[in-house]
Amino acid sequence: MTADLDPEEFRRLGHAVVDWIADHRAGLEARPVQPGVEPGWVRARMPAALPEDPAPLEDLLDTVDRVVVPASTLWQHPRFFGYFPANASLHSLLGDMLSGALGAQGMLWSTSPAATEVEQVMLDAFAGALGLDPAFTFAGGGGGCIQDSASSAALVVLLAALNRADPRWRESGVSGTERVYVTSETHSSLAKAVRVAGLGAHALRVVDTAPGTLAMDPGAFAAALRADVAAGLRPVLVCPTVGTTGTGAIDPVRAVAEAAREHGVWVHVDAAWAGVAALCPEFRHLLDGVELADSFATNAHKWLLTAFDAGLLWVRDGTALPKALSITPEYLRNAASESGAVVDYRDWQVPLGRRFRALKLWAVVHGAGLSGLRAHIREHVALAAKLADQVRADPGFELVGEPTLALVCLRVVTGDGPEADDAASRAVLDRVNASGEAFLTHTVAGGRYVIRVAIGSVTTGAEHVDQLWDRLRAEAAAVRSAAGTRQYP
Ligand code: PLP
Repeated sequence: MTADLDPEEFRRLGHAVVDWIADHRAGLEARPVQPGVEPGWVRARMPAALPEDPAPLEDLLDTVDRVVVPASTLWQHPRFFGYFPANASLHSLLGDMLSGALGAQGMLWSTSPAATEVEQVMLDAFAGALGLDPAFTFAGGGGGCIQDSASSAALVVLLAALNRADPRWRESGVSGTERVYVTSETHSSLAKAVRVAGLGAHALRVVDTAPGTLAMDPGAFAAALRADVAAGLRPVLVCPTVGTTGTGAIDPVRAVAEAAREHGVWVHVDAAWAGVAALCPEFRHLLDGVELADSFATNAHKWLLTAFDAGLLWVRDGTALPKALSITPEYLRNAASESGAVVDYRDWQVPLGRRFRALKLWAVVHGAGLSGLRAHIREHVALAAKLADQVRADPGFELVGEPTLALVCLRVVTGDGPEADDAASRAVLDRVNASGEAFLTHTVAGGRYVIRVAIGSVTTGAEHVDQLWDRLRAEAAAVRSAAGTRQYP
């Protein structure tokens, strides 16, 4: 007697679940992007007690339909324009199913050679497709791995950087003199990594952005380095970002890396969202200077059709992460590891265990082809350019900087000054989101409110961006009319 399903019963129920998924995706567009539920709405509707006896799948699907879907923000909706996308293509769901079917735990090469080697092949091949320096491949002495997130990537490279900066770190821990360089626009995961690594918030040096931009000022970085070295501090890592979360700013990676090299500082390039665009040769210039970096991260789970989680991380020195992270108790010893001929990915990450994530990445590139991935990115960049033209041509709106790839930042113009514009922008965003027709998020840049339009959902097409633009204009007109301010045509 097993508690698991009989494979034939699984076949029947599995078809029902696949049908559910297909229906859900086909019907997404008709649903509100964001639910209008109050806190506690879901908890009040979930069965309070766990079932003592087996229950039919139909009951579960019924509760998913009645409780889960109506309370879900639909990230796969074609009019989801918030944060950055979290693509979960149907290709990747198929790959995830295969990975789940194998149920392999790939902590060591020997615990599933395929889980390790498929990942190595994928990461080497994607390094080539992105135009990364061959030094980031296993053949070139570096290598790549799939982390759960860009945040984890930042943490493990910080640990590798601490180990490289002072080999006593593994024994003695941090000294309190370490410094990590970011800007005000760097993702908060760097500050979190600094905290988790036990460096203390004082270790985080926020370098100025260049005047009139939100990108790191390489001169200010070089000056901060010199000052810190002169003060006896230990610069450990700098994180230039390609495509910041707030506004898509691009730090000058080459100039930052050149300044860092003089002091042996680890350069980690965070291109969590924008990096995958380098699959298109015309966007490869965004990664200029990455060949000088020590590590590079981009997420397949944002804009590259791959269901969360798949944070791709490459390092120039393939021994750097194991040197910092490897701990080998007796029960993990095995001949393959001791031969030195294999990669044990447990040494490249914080947890011991790991999923076979490479299979879903493979399913995506196999199903869509590199041509399909490039078309996906190019279409969204073109839609962003069109939306930016519409914003430019409308006196009731203004662009906040030029779009980066498929991220358009804008605000409402009332004619009544910055404060009124910011308040109107906030009100318009709230009204768009409350309508359920589209979902947007915001940031504050240079002290001003900014509406972010991140185009990138798997099924977003021209009509969806047009619908958003119509809705933005309609809500702006309503807000102006309520405020009694000027109306524009
Ligand atoms: N870095 C950048 C630039 C991001 O935009 C994000 C998320 O949006 C992250 C890091 C964190 O990504 P993750 O959720 O994979 O940790």
